[in-house]
Amino acid sequence: MCDIYDDLDCHRLVSEREHRARKLYRCDGCCGPIAPGRRYTRRASVYGDQMVVERLCRPCLLDSTRFAKEHGWAWLNDWLEFLRECVVDDGAAADPRWRCALFRAEARGKQWKAAEAAHA
Ligand SMILES: [Zn+2]
Ligand SMILES: [Zn+2]
Repeated sequence: MCDIYDDLDCHRLVSEREHRARKLYRCDGCCGPIAPGRRYTRRASVYGDQMVVERLCRPCLLDSTRFAKEHGWAWLNDWLEFLRECVVDDGAAADPRWRCALFRAEARGKQWKAAEAAHA
């Protein structure tokens, strides 16, 4: 496992709730679409003195929670950045689960343009 460290100690979870999308949203994790009617998680946290709100699609929530836990955190904002770091840092030795998670997240991100066009 890689070492991903950050000043995450100043990270505080304010709320985490599941919602149903009323319109097309863009996931803050993978930048992929959250289609109307789909469930997503809205997470509010405080980082230093900044409030951060993230909408996460279901796959991002599941993958990021697993990824965060195995790296010693309960959860992570901007998880794709950490995921990339993990896979790139470890190179050929990277955990196949995280490689797959990265592959899937990037594939979701690529669906955004088509979804945006379809819901315009
Ligand atoms: Zn790692
Ligand atoms: Zn996502």
